[in-house]
Amino acid sequence: MQLILDGKNAAVQIKATLKEKISKLERKLCLAIIFFNDPSSASYLKGRMKIAEELGVELKIMTIDDSFDNNQLVKLIVDLNKDSDVDGIMIDRPIPKRFNESEILSLVSVNKDVDGTNFASLGKLAAGQDTFVSCTPTAAVELAKFYGIEFAGKDCLVIGRSVTVGKPLALLLTNLNATVTIAHSKTVNLKEKIKKADIIFLAVGKANFLKKEDITDKTVIVDIGINFDENGKLTGDASKDCYELAAAYSPVPGGVGVMTNVALMENLYKAHIKK
Ligand code: NAP
Repeated sequence: MQLILDGKNAAVQIKATLKEKISKLERKLCLAIIFFNDPSSASYLKGRMKIAEELGVELKIMTIDDSFDNNQLVKLIVDLNKDSDVDGIMIDRPIPKRFNESEILSLVSVNKDVDGTNFASLGKLAAGQDTFVSCTPTAAVELAKFYGIEFAGKDCLVIGRSVTVGKPLALLLTNLNATVTIAHSKTVNLKEKIKKADIIFLAVGKANFLKKEDITDKTVIVDIGINFDENGKLTGDASKDCYELAAAYSPVPGGVGVMTNVALMENLYKAHIKK
């Protein structure tokens, strides 16, 4: 029987457990967001405001306007690192060009790095140590796990190698004992690799990238892609006809995307508990 990796259903259940745990804390959890007023992160901000309200989490939204320079941003992050009332810090991306991106990302204390953007967090992930992992890869793995998909010994194909999605996802899956292949735009014989994979993680950013004829009835598809079709409708990287054949698939919308903010709130709770 075909399995739908329904992010909405998983999110409702995981949020209920998390809300219960958060309600037992002595004070409200607090997440600081460095917000650059970019339209793509503005819609994402709305989602974070909604889940924060649902779970009773305080958000400190630090809007960085055009007058802010690199030194001021550095000072702001250093102050947030020191602030014992702030459990987690998230730097929105894209970071405007006038800031030194690698300096800014690596300034966030690894203990508050709830989106796993500090390169030290990535290094710990590569070393197989407990650390914060970027919310999107975490969400993709959590969603599959929620529906009983196991990774140990499986051939996982991650298509996309960005530092925010593909690479941390591949490391996460390796740490879960999967055998991982990372594919990208220079990969040859990709169709063969797709046919052979047990689980395919799509992080390409191209609508209809994965086609029904590429997969088998044993393929599990975890679709991370966010695209808009010619009618402005949200769609993933897999074409909709893959849904008829795949053994399991995460729909877009309603799959990984819904789980991303849940992963963020779980990381925030973990940051508080680990203090
Ligand atoms: P990105 O930085 O643009 O990376 C895209 C990756 O796809 C690159 O590694 C690129 O290869 C690879 N690629 C492009 N064309 C390819 C091809 N023909 N064959 C194989 N690989 C190809 O994007 P990203 O930031 O990782 O995001 C990926 C997708 O996830 C986007 O749709 C984004 O909107 C979405 N996303 C979703 C969430 C969520 O919460 N669901 C969060 C973040 C991002 P090269 O490295 O060789 O260029």
